[in-house]
Amino acid sequence: MYRASEHRPTQAVVSLENIKHNIKLYQNKKASHQQIYAVVKANAYGHGAIPVAKVALEAGVDGLCVATVDEAIQLRKAGLTNTPILVMGLTLPYGIAEILYYDLTITVSDLSFFEQAFYQLKKNQQENLLKDNQLKFHLKLDTGMSRVGVRTKEEVLAFVEGVKDYSWLDWQGVFTHFATAGGGPLSYIDYQWERWQDLIPYIPDFVSLRHFDNSAMGLHPAIGDHSDIIRLGISMYGLSSRDSVPDNLVTDRQIAAYHLDKDSLRSTNPNSELNLKPAFQLLSELSYVKKVEKGTRISYGASYESPEDEWIGTIPIGYADGWLRAYANIPVLVEGYPCPVLGVINMDQLMIRLPKEFAVGTEVTLIGQDGNYNNHPSLLAHMAGTISYEMLSCISERVPRVYI
Ligand SMILES: *Cc1c(COP(=O)(O)O)cnc(C)c1O
Repeated sequence: MYRASEHRPTQAVVSLENIKHNIKLYQNKKASHQQIYAVVKANAYGHGAIPVAKVALEAGVDGLCVATVDEAIQLRKAGLTNTPILVMGLTLPYGIAEILYYDLTITVSDLSFFEQAFYQLKKNQQENLLKDNQLKFHLKLDTGMSRVGVRTKEEVLAFVEGVKDYSWLDWQGVFTHFATAGGGPLSYIDYQWERWQDLIPYIPDFVSLRHFDNSAMGLHPAIGDHSDIIRLGISMYGLSSRDSVPDNLVTDRQIAAYHLDKDSLRSTNPNSELNLKPAFQLLSELSYVKKVEKGTRISYGASYESPEDEWIGTIPIGYADGWLRAYANIPVLVEGYPCPVLGVINMDQLMIRLPKEFAVGTEVTLIGQDGNYNNHPSLLAHMAGTISYEMLSCISERVPRVYI
């Protein structure tokens, strides 16, 4: 295996092929009028924003979504200049000059943004940056997430009136976000859909992009096709937003070795019909191997005591790499054996129990398949009481990404 660092073997291996495959599944499923925007915020959920954005565009997506203006600028600077980039989070007006310079599409929740942005440009004698239809934006509607966005008919009407004062605006879209598509009461989808339908008639006809699909809503049988854009995030990375673990990956053998509760796993599995392929593997190697006697204390706090003589392996990964202390109950895979972590996870290293002696340099799989076992991100997230979104986006910058 190619090594990103000569000095430390811990690395994430990202399959761009699988990302393409997952995009294709949505391309084949979507309605013909629908566009797909690849969501590459948070370093593409840990996969690496620039390579993922490039491969997604190669696969034919129509645009990109990020959370912040700085993320968008990073993509523009990497040469991705010919594609719309929608910044989905709210941004401050002080950076308006850069937003214009990099041709970004921003999200707005109220009129004061335009007023302050104009004031900012005036202060710097940069009003000449503003030409007609210069600033692209989408209006955010809050239909039940209660995060950001305009909430009532009155607010929409006031907004529609107010934007007429600004000739330099290019109002391209309007969107909302569903709170329960990935889990929670399904009836809440109907509630949000109704609120969307209540507000949309007050949006002017020229605002042509009206969208609400994320990965999960893109598959919604009744509503999904009504969104002009699918903002494709977690499924592009091969994972279900409900963190369902594909049935065939949860074998009796795995359930026993991982002390899994079969019933609670089943309840997370609505049998997603798509054949998504996870794109992220987290690999390392044994950096040190030794035999310890019964009664040996291991790790900070002397948190583990060997009940008998044991083979112990050390792995150069820790919580500063994003392999959090909360993952201490997740076994790692060595030559097809699930090996438990012993004691607490350190900042840069952790210790595991080996079934027998292995050579230093033996490959270790933290996320991914090895032999009969599969450390599938959704399964691990389930075990650690989190979600795969969090687990992958928290793998830190210290871990080099390698692309296959
Ligand atoms: C992150 C995000 C998405 C993508 O959601 P997935 O569940 O990962 O597909 C879509 N829309 C908004 C507004 C988001 O913040």
